[in-house]
Amino acid sequence: MKSLWSAAEAERLVIQLTAEGIDAELALSVYATRLLGGDPTLVLHGGGNSSVKATLPDLLDQPVSVLHIKGSGRDMATIDPDGLPAVRLDPLQALRRLDRLSDASMVNVLELNRLHADAPAPSVETLMHAFLPHRHVLHTHATAVLALSNQPDGTAACREAFGSRVGIVPYMMSGFALARAVAETYEADPTVEGLVLLKHGLVTFGDDAATAYRRMIDLVTLAEGHLAQGRRTVVPVAGLATAPVAAAALAPRLRGLLARDKGDGLFERWLLDLRDDDSARALSDDAALIKAVGRGVATPDHVIRTKPWPLVLPPAPTAEGLDGWVEAARDIIAAYEARYHDYFVANDRAKGGGRIELDPVARVAIVPGLGLFGIGAAAAAAAVAADMALATAACAAAAESIGTYTPAAEADLFDLEYWSLEQAKLGKRKHPERPLARQVMVVTGGGSGIGAATARAFARQGAEVAILDLSANAARTVAASIGPRVLGLGCDVTNPEAVAAAFDAVARHFGGVDIVVSNAGAAWQGTIGSVDDATLRRSFELNFFAHQAVAQNAVRLFKAQGSGGSLLFNASKQSVNPGKNFGPYGLPKAATLFLMKQYALDHGRDGIRSAAVNADRIRSGLLTGDMIASRSAARGLSEKDYMAGNLLGREVGAEDVADAFVWLARSNKVTACTITVDGGNIEASLR
Ligand SMILES: [Zn+2]
Repeated sequence: MKSLWSAAEAERLVIQLTAEGIDAELALSVYATRLLGGDPTLVLHGGGNSSVKATLPDLLDQPVSVLHIKGSGRDMATIDPDGLPAVRLDPLQALRRLDRLSDASMVNVLELNRLHADAPAPSVETLMHAFLPHRHVLHTHATAVLALSNQPDGTAACREAFGSRVGIVPYMMSGFALARAVAETYEADPTVEGLVLLKHGLVTFGDDAATAYRRMIDLVTLAEGHLAQGRRTVVPVAGLATAPVAAAALAPRLRGLLARDKGDGLFERWLLDLRDDDSARALSDDAALIKAVGRGVATPDHVIRTKPWPLVLPPAPTAEGLDGWVEAARDIIAAYEARYHDYFVANDRAKGGGRIELDPVARVAIVPGLGLFGIGAAAAAAAVAADMALATAACAAAAESIGTYTPAAEADLFDLEYWSLEQAKLGKRKHPERPLARQVMVVTGGGSGIGAATARAFARQGAEVAILDLSANAARTVAASIGPRVLGLGCDVTNPEAVAAAFDAVARHFGGVDIVVSNAGAAWQGTIGSVDDATLRRSFELNFFAHQAVAQNAVRLFKAQGSGGSLLFNASKQSVNPGKNFGPYGLPKAATLFLMKQYALDHGRDGIRSAAVNADRIRSGLLTGDMIASRSAARGLSEKDYMAGNLLGREVGAEDVADAFVWLARSNKVTACTITVDGGNIEASLR
């Protein structure tokens, strides 16, 4: 492992942060923390932590000893000084005199002794940092150290690699007892450079940040060197199909198997994050490694995001074998969930009972011949699960190369999974799920106007969003402006093959699709008695046939999942109330309105709802500034009066149309319905 410490860069950050009034040692701690956090073989997704002891003036200008400790769940890679909240040090160190301290009391002490009431909650490993005497303390969950300590005799393996350079602390859950054991191990031999926490990670320290960081890198490098001498036999999974089905076809089937039917067309759905690169295939196609990771996660901390074991599904079938694969997978999933329930009941009973069982759904699914899927209630959570599964695989492979991968026992995993503090970390109580959470939404023509507003509205409701637009650039720009997980894809919806490919890309990215807003359109004009055939046909391609291609692909994925779906169309006032010389636009739009009804009729019993929003006079790509100027002039109206020329006298915006799409997507008893959003136009009003 290479040291990334640069004295010049450290100095630059110190100059920058001290100018903002930040203590120089805190600035150096931030620098070291970011360096460690940037390496996924050291820490993953909020894991690990760091601290620095300092003196701050209080409001009366009296010096107060504090511990700046990483906030719980904060990401080390992107930490800022406010991610290391200050906690009064003396009250923490005084706790050392206690024989025991409950987790709830510990958290209470941490909360009460923050200097700033609105600072993030201090890490649950705060006392470990407080009880060590060094100014700087760093802690990672380094994969190499986990591989050494996840052995039948982890102490012996660590001694062999590290000699007497580290103290070794047996596995126990984070909290007061671990903090005390860490302090006692250090005090027994203060010459050590660090402490191995068996099956958990590594702590290093020093009076300056550079020393603490260097020790971390040196010790992990030592561990890596030791592991590099090992050797492991790969056992290829037998019977892999030479031409397996595409992941885009398998993922929606798996997603459907995992979904729980809550009745009335409502489902508890999951997002999938597919990994099929070399590192994922190194796990999915190796029977020996699959067996090893089945023993448990690299460190109990992961269990919150991955569950104790992966779901191991049958090898990826051929396209013809997919139905048979689904039936076999269904039984394996049921067995997994039964095993999870048994694990809960047995461990809960052994520990006195009274806990509430979490959902039994696996968070990692291995498909030999294909790769693995992270599974989560959101796309971000699915990605975290996949990352952690790959970290466990790397750890297990290294551990097997020098011995036998032996992770923490199931009872230890249970303690962590059902630890009240860890449950709080998930933030469930603070943030109930948003109405469209766990659903994947696709919008066409999402690069601007109504489509972009619709994408934003669905994202606000918690949906995972994929934006399709003729301009890949526009799609990606809107996607990036909404959030990191939003997918932006170029797609010419008048090309059926491109539409199929785009839906496959969405299925690969999220696992499937639940809501489709078929929105892309453009206005062609011409007097119907003389308009040329080519214009009419071009309009039909975009304003009718493209909707049909989008809807067919949506239905293909909805049916693969078997958990219903919402098919929403952007109709137009023209579809029910023709405008003069607007035949080329209105005719295909009228056909699309009928198309909506046909889908409602033909696919209602598949749980698929079909509905439309009938909007009029919206500023967008379709109704440009020039058109507004010419039409308002033709009617002798100001632009403002033209745009508000409806019964209510209010201009209707793209956001208003987007809200109607959201309402339709949320209304599980509504189908074959058109909502008019036009401020009132009695000639175009529906029954
Ligand atoms: Zn830790």
